[in-house]
Amino acid sequence: MEIKFERLHLQSDLLSPLKGFEKISVPTEVRIDPLTGRRSRIITWTLPPQEGFDFSKMAEQSKGCIFCPGNVLEKTPQFIKEISSEGRISIGGATGFPNLFPAGTYGSVVVLCRDHFLNLTQLTPNIYEEGLSVSVEIIRRTTIFDPDARYWQVSQNFLLPAGSSILHPHLQVIGDPLPTNEMGWLLDAGSSYYERNRSHYWKDLIQTEKGLGKRYITSIGNVHWFVSFAPIGFNEVCGSVEGHGSILTLSKKEIASLAEGIASTLKYYGSKNLDSFNFSIYSISGETSYQLLLRMISRTPFQPNYLNDCTSYEALQSELTSNIFPEELCREIRPYFP
Ligand SMILES: [Zn+2]
Repeated sequence: MEIKFERLHLQSDLLSPLKGFEKISVPTEVRIDPLTGRRSRIITWTLPPQEGFDFSKMAEQSKGCIFCPGNVLEKTPQFIKEISSEGRISIGGATGFPNLFPAGTYGSVVVLCRDHFLNLTQLTPNIYEEGLSVSVEIIRRTTIFDPDARYWQVSQNFLLPAGSSILHPHLQVIGDPLPTNEMGWLLDAGSSYYERNRSHYWKDLIQTEKGLGKRYITSIGNVHWFVSFAPIGFNEVCGSVEGHGSILTLSKKEIASLAEGIASTLKYYGSKNLDSFNFSIYSISGETSYQLLLRMISRTPFQPNYLNDCTSYEALQSELTSNIFPEELCREIRPYFP
């Protein structure tokens, strides 16, 4: 096993106007991801907390959107007959259909619920269980039609800071015959780890994190929840499902466990007055050295003078920042999990 948790300490000295121009030192920690070697920066300062934003006016004005009941089964696109003869796929309150503006081979939207707007603490495990079940059904039917589509993401962009113009909670289910950059990095690094060590990176990581106890949150069934050593976003929480690479082979119980972890993380985000987030499930079939990963991050909360959290560091230097130490996040989030 060769899981190394490497960190470098940087320090910036300056004369602070907040302390009568006394010399102060501001530390930054650079962490190197044990799998990919990618560097992340943990910044040790934060902006003052903001009051929670009141979305009621925005929700009222945009009510009756294309995803709302009455419109969703009338105005959204339908699947081609080879994928779904019913046109759309529904389970409970969730409905899936093709994205009118896709960015790849198979792009679908899954509307999660009938409610037009829900805040983070109202997004329940049951909502995600139904939404993920529809996602699995879309992927299942599509891969019967096109077995080359092996690379799938089930993602959520929640509210404007996360890249969604529509308030109504929904998922993106996107599949292609080729991986995204992130999937490619995970696969390449995972298979070279396997070749070097003759063992599985994700199994080794989970065993190591469990032993250390500093970033391992809990397990729900055989879904392991942990905070990554070198996060690629704010408040990053990961889930990994033992024994699976693709979402297609998950049992009902494993889908429910993923849903529970997502809702638990959202409860924690909500308690911190965070209101916007992204998650991605990287679902890849036919790769023995890969284990299904879900990665979830918070985005800067929406507010009138909104500050985007994607600066030149993230956008142009591919160096990702986090505003909380992973070990501190793990300690804080544990009580929110079952
Ligand atoms: Zn709506």
